[in-house]
Amino acid sequence: MLKDQDRIFTNLYGMHDRSLKGAKARGHWDDTAKIIQQGRDAIIDQMKSSGLRGRGGAGFPTGLKWSFMPKESDGRPAYLVINADESEPGTCKDREIMRHDPHTLIEGALIASFAMGAHTSYIYIRGEYIREREALQAAIDEAYDAGLLGKNAAGSNWDFDLFLHHGAGAYICGEETALLESLEGKKGMPRMKPPFPAGSGLYGCPTTVNNVESIAVVPTVLRRGPEWFAGFGRPNNAGTKIFGISGHVNNPCVVEEEMSISFEELIEKHCGGIRGGWENLLAVIPGGSSVPCVRGENMREAVMDFDALREVGSSLGTAAVIVMDRSVDPIKAIWRLSKFYKHESCGQCTPCREGTGWMMRVMDRLVKGEAELEEIDMLFDVTKQVEGHTICALGDAAAWPIQGLIRNFREEIEDRVKAQKSGRLGAMAAE
Ligand code: SF4
Repeated sequence: MLKDQDRIFTNLYGMHDRSLKGAKARGHWDDTAKIIQQGRDAIIDQMKSSGLRGRGGAGFPTGLKWSFMPKESDGRPAYLVINADESEPGTCKDREIMRHDPHTLIEGALIASFAMGAHTSYIYIRGEYIREREALQAAIDEAYDAGLLGKNAAGSNWDFDLFLHHGAGAYICGEETALLESLEGKKGMPRMKPPFPAGSGLYGCPTTVNNVESIAVVPTVLRRGPEWFAGFGRPNNAGTKIFGISGHVNNPCVVEEEMSISFEELIEKHCGGIRGGWENLLAVIPGGSSVPCVRGENMREAVMDFDALREVGSSLGTAAVIVMDRSVDPIKAIWRLSKFYKHESCGQCTPCREGTGWMMRVMDRLVKGEAELEEIDMLFDVTKQVEGHTICALGDAAAWPIQGLIRNFREEIEDRVKAQKSGRLGAMAAE
């Protein structure tokens, strides 16, 4: 279990002073100029050796991503864009950083931007996060007043401006290129890649898009040293991580823990166990709504990191852990997610626009058992035709939960279809 002295986020619950004074008292903004004076390459090298992988879901190594930015400017400015459009169902970790510990993010933005040669950074915050925006803006204003942002930011000889942009509430704007389109004032629709943002991103200029948590950990990683951060978790899955556990546990919570903690320890230590005991655990979605669910019995021993969750047929995603006990109808739960993805599809590419609606309608019938048994395979087939055949990952996000359901709960789906046909379907399944 992570010790208190190893927590990066020391005000995750808002129990302490979130102002600049409070942040400084907790060690933030401590000689930031000294970190910056190490130079771009040294900072990027340390981020690489820390083993930090992006905390927005994809898990791409952060230091490596930064190294894709041009070393010399060709005349175009470079940008860091921070993705604070946290909209994945189940995910509410960046929210706690922004409203309770905003200076971790602001200091991280300065250091990361310097490392990538950017004098300007934008934070794109989710439309519904109104109080979070207010808290973050107040912290940005404080930082400007204290000379930590603006000309010669924090005495580092680096001029740096940080702007907060409020989204309008579309899930798809969390996709990095849709986010850039939206930031430019256009409709939030994903772009084809290549070109990748590091070559041509915001306003056609070199851009890196990073998640809030990825940037907010940077100052502490550099202050305490990459080896310290790399010392947590298993190889290739380093660091501390914020987990958000919701659903049928006794105490749902958001908590910073060591990567590679076991699922059982996470739930027992921080959530007071499963509601009704471990025997009552039905299924877990371990990384936010877009990753496949796992049956409860396969989760108990699972390790919470990128590689281990792949081995149980799922993914760490944003580490938003959704726990379902036996009171849940898993078919209906996944149908609800299908409805969400259908609603949020931007409609730009055919497999996603048509496929999400088609999958949702079949799911709708499966909930009631009003389907033929062959349709289960047909549905699985359609998810495979959507997956990997779209402009952005929303198509995959719509396909994976259904694949997880069919892989793990096929028997339950078949039983319901058979029960419907024989007129045995109880009220429970149809409601
Ligand atoms: Fe839009 Fe869906 Fe295509 Fe993404 S996959 S670009 S959300 S239609």
